[in-house]
Amino acid sequence: MSRLETKDQRVVIIGMGDTGVLVATRLSRHFKVIGISTKPNLVSGQELGKRLADLGWWSRYYNTPLRRFKALAGIEIHHAKAERVDLANKWVAVRDQSNNETLISFDFLVIASGTSNGFWRDDHLRSEAQIDARLEQDAAAVREASTVAVIGGGPCGVSCALNIRRAYPEKPVSLFISADLPLPGYHEEARQYYERELTAAGVEIFSGHRAITHEPAPSAGTIHFESGQSAEADTIIWSTGNRQPHTHFLPDALLDDEGFVRTQNTLEVDGSDCLFAIGDVASTDPERSSARNWAYGILVHNIKRKAAGKAPNKLYSPPENRWGSIVGPQDDGLTLHQDSGKTTRLSRWLVDKLLLPTIVQRVIYRGVERLNG
Ligand SMILES: Cc1cc2nc3c(=O)[nH]c(=O)nc-3n(C[C@H](O)[C@H](O)[C@H](O)COP(=O)(O)OP(=O)(O)OC[C@H]3O[C@@H](n4cnc5c(N)ncnc54)[C@H](O)[C@@H]3O)c2cc1C
Repeated sequence: MSRLETKDQRVVIIGMGDTGVLVATRLSRHFKVIGISTKPNLVSGQELGKRLADLGWWSRYYNTPLRRFKALAGIEIHHAKAERVDLANKWVAVRDQSNNETLISFDFLVIASGTSNGFWRDDHLRSEAQIDARLEQDAAAVREASTVAVIGGGPCGVSCALNIRRAYPEKPVSLFISADLPLPGYHEEARQYYERELTAAGVEIFSGHRAITHEPAPSAGTIHFESGQSAEADTIIWSTGNRQPHTHFLPDALLDDEGFVRTQNTLEVDGSDCLFAIGDVASTDPERSSARNWAYGILVHNIKRKAAGKAPNKLYSPPENRWGSIVGPQDDGLTLHQDSGKTTRLSRWLVDKLLLPTIVQRVIYRGVERLNG
């Protein structure tokens, strides 16, 4: 099938976060693409520690209005929330901030709506100004606290504890983890590396401390642990990995027991012939790792084949261990942890002058308009 013929087909993408944007930038040359997102910006789920400790730097690369992505120029974007999907008639019902409902029809639907994850990711409809205000409020809570406690030893918890302590060396920062070492799921070398880095920076690590969680989780005050111990802090950052998938708009038959989208290794959704899923919402593997491992290329390839009447033939294969950056760029550069346990260090110059502006913005995102001034 030629490009002209596929251009008549409509691909609707629900969620324009890290993966939805990548998929849209690649599909727009081949299809009529419509993006639906509760946020008018790509507010990335990456580098939470930098976001809290160095918001100015983080916003430059990780909070980007969708209109600044050059490859999204021809795409229709609805700033609205998907509320229900009719698979038989192939439409999505969305509601905008003025409470107006619109029905949007599709030939193919990509679910890239992510998960809620603590205070920093949600599916609420927000304007650009509301996004900025929320980011500033979270950063101010850290700036103004005299003691900070971080609960949870995953990458977000480690990133928060290390970045906050390095940005504010006068503040006592405690990291409470339930295991012996931080970063379960990462290679042993990476786990030991961060135990050393955290300790050297002055973060006090409390291993074997499983916190008792309440809803809503207190953002200041007392933390209680299953052991009967307790601790106090002015600001408490909960990063206990309690992810809630944004899938309420889909029929239950497409979801697994935890509410994630049942996704095959072709990134097609089980039980449908026109749905694909990617990112944190897609249960491709126990880590739901398809946001990180170039899976967007597989999805784009397979959707093009399907639109041309051919069977999808590229398969997503998750790595054995989690890999990538854990704490983001530091003064001495960016440390990338590989699946094998090996580390690679990129200098800060390389990160600021080449990796972020050229590799990420120009190559991966296919061009981002510069900010004025
Ligand atoms: C290039 C790249 C590099 C990465 N590097 C790393 C790394 O080094 N280390 C690491 O740990 N992780 C890394 N990650 C992964 C990252 O931490 C998360 O996994 C990623 O942010 C998840 O993306 P997502 O698109 O699934 O979800 P999100 O980015 O959360 O996007 C979901 C979007 O959908 C919207 N939405 C939700 N519900 C609805 C609805 N009903 N209607 C409309 N919109 C809705 C949300 O508001 C949000 O905008 C990387 C990801 C990418 C893409």
